[in-house]
Amino acid sequence: MISSFIFQICSIFYILLLIIVYFSKDRFKSLENNIYKFLMVFDLVILIADITSVYCLYTLPVDSILNIFFAKFFLVTLIVWEIALTFYVFTISSKDEDTKKKLNYKAILFGSVIPIMVLIFILPLNLVIGNNYAYTEGVAAMFTYIITAILIVIWIFRLLMRIKYVKKKKCIPIIFYVIFIIIGAAIQFNFPQLLVVSSISTFVTILMYFTIENPDMKLINELNVTKDQAEKANQAKSEFLSSMSHEIRTPLNAIVGFSQALSEEDIPDSAKEEVRDIIMASNVLLEIVNGILDISKIEANKIEIVNSGYKFREVFDDLIVLTKARMGDKVLDFRFHYDESIPPYLYGDHMRVKQVILNLLTNAVKYTKEGYVDFSVTSVIEGDVCRLIISVEDSGIGIKRENVDKLFEKFERLDLEKNITIEGTGLGLAITKKLVELMNGKIVVQSEYGKGSKFTIALDQKIIDEVLEEKEDVLENKASKEVINSIYDNVEILDADVVDEVSSDKPRLLIVDDNMLNLKVASRLLKEYDIDIDLVQSGEECIAKINSNIKYDCIFLDDMMPRMSGVETLGKLKEIDDFNIPVIMLTANAITGMREKYLMEGFNDYMAKPIDKVELDKIVRQYLLKR
Ligand code: ADP
Repeated sequence: MISSFIFQICSIFYILLLIIVYFSKDRFKSLENNIYKFLMVFDLVILIADITSVYCLYTLPVDSILNIFFAKFFLVTLIVWEIALTFYVFTISSKDEDTKKKLNYKAILFGSVIPIMVLIFILPLNLVIGNNYAYTEGVAAMFTYIITAILIVIWIFRLLMRIKYVKKKKCIPIIFYVIFIIIGAAIQFNFPQLLVVSSISTFVTILMYFTIENPDMKLINELNVTKDQAEKANQAKSEFLSSMSHEIRTPLNAIVGFSQALSEEDIPDSAKEEVRDIIMASNVLLEIVNGILDISKIEANKIEIVNSGYKFREVFDDLIVLTKARMGDKVLDFRFHYDESIPPYLYGDHMRVKQVILNLLTNAVKYTKEGYVDFSVTSVIEGDVCRLIISVEDSGIGIKRENVDKLFEKFERLDLEKNITIEGTGLGLAITKKLVELMNGKIVVQSEYGKGSKFTIALDQKIIDEVLEEKEDVLENKASKEVINSIYDNVEILDADVVDEVSSDKPRLLIVDDNMLNLKVASRLLKEYDIDIDLVQSGEECIAKINSNIKYDCIFLDDMMPRMSGVETLGKLKEIDDFNIPVIMLTANAITGMREKYLMEGFNDYMAKPIDKVELDKIVRQYLLKR
């Protein structure tokens, strides 16, 4: 007798194991999973029904009503399982979640199972009992096979019709079920005493666990959704930081501006020192705000790499001047060197190249008390690509081995007990790395704690024959400024017609900014110059002023204003006949690269808020005091 149950008993162990594993894991809540749970648990019911019916055949009297009842009940459980599998097929082949939900599962279940159940209980079934075997045959068993065949046709038809919505992997258990049920039916016909049919559902259910309903896969999907949400939240945070940084600049502009103005007043020495401290603190704050602005723009993918032709020597020389300025009173041996073989004209984002190298040089100076800072650029040329190998080495404090990994993380400042007196935000290297990667370059660091560090950047730049015209806007502006500086007198003569029309005594400046505090700061900083200043708070008022009889020598124009932005205002100004007043962008939109953007838009120059006195002085001398 036991040999008749052997398949079923093994199957019960397998399915119990599967149930334990399945329910002990976190699962994704879905219709598919719910149906799968039903298939799994109901498979256990099939196996128990099968064993019970065969056991009854062996033990109860042949004519016992219970024999027929359990045999027919087993057939019903098989059909119910197959109908559940049909739901499964419909679910995995649905176009989307909504169509899945539209299937009225309960109605179909009761609409199909009840009539089938009634029919199975009405149709005759014969019990065949031998010495060491017992099984059933007859119309009810045949009917069960026919229903199975019909369902198989429905599955195949449905899957073929919806093949584009079905993941191939999900079809595997269905295909196996069809194959096994055919083999099972053949075995049953030839060896009716071998009861294998109920084990087929177990096998397919187990297979399904690995192919279709792997809950781990679902968890991964869930994690991906969470990851997407986190990324979106991160983006929102970056945008928030970016607008916050922008907002912080306005009050900061007032603090820096007024304290600068105050420091030049006749105030007691002690107050002067305090004012200097305020300026220093505001500058640190400004550096933080700039860093946050940069990093948040990078993270929100709002920073673009703007490639153009540039002169390598110019960038290199600028970096040396800037580094020397940063060294201040520090006595360091600053060595610099570049390969003569580096082509004179390169094509890339020279502003960013400069920014990343300057950051390394600034750090080297910051974190080196004595010894040297070595800056060298070598190159490897392949075709029209020049790989710049830029290295910045110092004999400074070095970086602990365990900290090297954290180096490029934002807001990560290392070895604070040593660095506590050195100002910094921990953003510089994070920005540097991201920018280098955006330019398809690589940055590596070698460092020995207490001895020094070496940062190396490899960056591919295209080689060009000369600085091409495509940079015209920026270059022309730059070039024209150089021309203005060098042939100062000529410019005066060239501008003479305009000058004639300008009110005879003082140069006149129009400042446009929607924020009154900004207007106050600008006019306060300009107090020391002999200039007439008009202040307006919108683009419309600016245009009205220009259209009036007043003649201006220069306009300082803010960008982010309600109704009409600075860029739009400039566009409108340029539509005015004979408009040739220099327009300077004065904005808190101060991330690197903005200068180029505004020069491209047609502004003559650019000044960031908070206004830097030295910058302002340059602008005033160039555009207002030139006469
Ligand atoms: P910041 O200099 O503003 O703190 P960075 O992102 O530029 O931020 O650098 C992160 C940290 O890496 C610094 O705080 C410092 O501890 C370490 N570091 C960077 N450059 C050097 C260097 N050349 N030598 C030693 N430590 C350095």
